[in-house]
Amino acid sequence: MNSVRNPSPRLANMVPYDPKYMPAQCMMSANENPRDIPEEVRHEVVHALRNLAFNRYPDPLAQDLRQAIADANGLDQDNVLMGNGGDELLFDIALAWGGKGRTFLNIPPTFSVYENNAQLTGTTVVNIPRRADYSIDEEAVLTRLAQGDIDYVIIASPNNPTGQLADETFLMKVLDASDALVVVDEAYFEFSRTTMRPYLAQHRNLMILRTFSKAFCLAGVRMGYVLANASLIRELIKVRQPYSVDAVSQQIACAVFKHRECFERGILDIIDQRSWLIQELTATDGVKPYPSDSNYILFKVESMDAHEVWEQLYQRGILIRDFSNGLYTSQCLRVSVSSEEDNQTFIEALRSILKGEAYE
Ligand SMILES: *Cc1c(COP(=O)(O)O)cnc(C)c1O
Repeated sequence: MNSVRNPSPRLANMVPYDPKYMPAQCMMSANENPRDIPEEVRHEVVHALRNLAFNRYPDPLAQDLRQAIADANGLDQDNVLMGNGGDELLFDIALAWGGKGRTFLNIPPTFSVYENNAQLTGTTVVNIPRRADYSIDEEAVLTRLAQGDIDYVIIASPNNPTGQLADETFLMKVLDASDALVVVDEAYFEFSRTTMRPYLAQHRNLMILRTFSKAFCLAGVRMGYVLANASLIRELIKVRQPYSVDAVSQQIACAVFKHRECFERGILDIIDQRSWLIQELTATDGVKPYPSDSNYILFKVESMDAHEVWEQLYQRGILIRDFSNGLYTSQCLRVSVSSEEDNQTFIEALRSILKGEAYE
């Protein structure tokens, strides 16, 4: 055959996820940690890898890591599931709670992976857009949930790309509004220092998603996890790829988690730098930053075309993320909080671009 029939019609209107990740001197687009893992932890990883049996399949559920995370959170092993990045677990959630004839409630603008996964699995998407200031339209969400037909809802807290936490009282109401699965995506919880974990015991419909990619500097390794009632974890285990969490990643994440206190300084530094960046952006004519509980800041460009600003930053070696063609984020760009040096370079370049200065 020199031809092939079309794939599932679901793919017809889909565009592949494109992080628009390109090399640059200042990498400020993907909310990565500007630091790599501490040398002592790297040393321990190298030692563990030297003795690793590469010819053997990994432990499918990564029990050592699972136990360590359970212990740290005052939970049991069967309340924890590891995944190949948080992204894999988000896909597993769509496989398990979505599908044909099922409905997902989305609160855009938010992480685009949620809606993509719903489309891939043939799940109906109900969008309840945020208000102009990107706060959640709480009334609308609760009213929609009370109709009883929503199978799962995902709320990123802090929300990506807008930056702010969801209100805890609101999240409690969401948990009580229906029996829908409520996923609270806490990918940035180490920067917000706020978690729904204490509510796991009383709410069987709560699932919390976390990742090693941001605060723990492991974006390149792919490791995430969920915390939930054991019955929910059992359902996810039915749909997951048995060996998605490879043996090398398990070793690295174990070492990092064991030494997690070493990452504390870096996290506090980012929180400090976040305040500095917000203050500088606020003092810059022509842009308006949104508040952030996370390690990135969304800002609106008011005095020129946002894509043009993005382009000129890139020409100066600074890569940030352009959201200006998004349905709810016109004129918006997102900058990841980086090292003090990168952050200063970014602010200087931005001010120069907004003043219309030429770059040689
Ligand atoms: C980064 C991120 C994740 C998970 O990323 P992984 O690298 O796949 O672990 C999940 N949710 C949000 C909102 C994120 O920004």
